[in-house]
Amino acid sequence: MNKKSELLFQKARKYIPGGVNSPVRAGKAVGIDPPFIAEATGCLITDVDGNEYIDYICSWGPMILGHTHPDIIRAIKESIKRGTSFGAPTGVEVQMAETIVDMVPSIEMVRMVNSGTEATMSAIRLARGFTVRDKIIKFDGCYHGHADSLLVSAGSGVATLGIPGSPGVPGDLAKLTISLPFNNLESVVRAFHRFGSDIAAVIVEPVPANMGVIIPDMDFLNGLRKITDEYGSILIFDEVISGFRLAHGGAQELFDIMPDLTCLGKIIGGGLPVGAYGGKKEIMSRMAPEGDVYQAGTLSGNPVAMAAGLATLNILKQGNIYEELEKKGRVLFSGIEEAANQAGVQVTVNRVGSLGSIFFHDQPVTDFHSANATNADIFSVYFKSMLEQGIYLAPSPYEAVFLSTAHTEDIIKKTIKCAKTAFSAI
Ligand SMILES: *Cc1c(COP(=O)(O)O)cnc(C)c1O
Repeated sequence: MNKKSELLFQKARKYIPGGVNSPVRAGKAVGIDPPFIAEATGCLITDVDGNEYIDYICSWGPMILGHTHPDIIRAIKESIKRGTSFGAPTGVEVQMAETIVDMVPSIEMVRMVNSGTEATMSAIRLARGFTVRDKIIKFDGCYHGHADSLLVSAGSGVATLGIPGSPGVPGDLAKLTISLPFNNLESVVRAFHRFGSDIAAVIVEPVPANMGVIIPDMDFLNGLRKITDEYGSILIFDEVISGFRLAHGGAQELFDIMPDLTCLGKIIGGGLPVGAYGGKKEIMSRMAPEGDVYQAGTLSGNPVAMAAGLATLNILKQGNIYEELEKKGRVLFSGIEEAANQAGVQVTVNRVGSLGSIFFHDQPVTDFHSANATNADIFSVYFKSMLEQGIYLAPSPYEAVFLSTAHTEDIIKKTIKCAKTAFSAI
């Protein structure tokens, strides 16, 4: 049934470390070999053996409108005809910047890059350059891409594979990163009392989604704003997942908390490789060539990627997409929770809008410590049963379920039914 995928994976492992170009794609944590994908449309994804799945990974967030959305494909085709890269400024970059400034409340100026990793890495450099300080605070289980300073106690694949810190990150650099428990303002206050005048920035996923989804305590997020203001540190919201997903303007709009800098990625590229970081003009104008903090990119602001991203943002700006996604999220997760309760399976469900996770744990999950208490063996059983029934979930208990506008009511009903079957096997 999965012959072609198996053969491809065998060959892939010969030429690519672990057979994948990003560790989260391998099924190591749940004991499967990954299906190789041939094509996708809407909320359906098909592997090379012809198995069709309902896709709840959505490329780890970008495909909020579903796969091969006709407007986005059209925008890409139109753009490609005029050339694929110029290494010189284009009008579509200005349009993109204007759209981002328009949509994201705290952003006055923005720089395009090629990935979320580049966005967070550059934002950290800018914060350090601007404050002339070296230390940063991050939170356990938050993932901010794979730049050296940010791989300390990270979520996502780092958590899935149980890697506490990565070899290759110089100790002298890791030492400058203070990692604290999420939702725990007291520990942040303590760190500031001790190191306040050395802390360049606090970087946080306002809705963490790389240790499963965690619901932020508003006093915690507001407290981060207050204490960074007090000490002259930069507050960075990493909205690579939450940006354009929870609201037009991301979590900062939803919670009405304005960071100094914001990192964007995933949805902003409409399925092509794009990231961005932006914020207050006073800070952003320190970037070269206007200022002296250096960051560059041969393919940054690539016209084809800009066209795909802009087409996506233009659709998200219209209508009631976020209300629709909130409703779909509510129906899906309350249905799954009810099915678990009926089957007597202990779960904790965390959800914000179209982003959610199921933890196999009977206590509230509010940080990395409690997320780690989730039962990984039960997750594997659940994951495998869902996959067999044609539901494509992230192969890790630390990743979120991503919904798109292409997931219909019937598709969601079917998913809940499959979850019932999966729970009865636990
Ligand atoms: C995915 C992710 C990143 C890294 O983005 P890449 O494009 O994979 O480099 C950074 N921060 C968060 C919150 C993410 O989810």
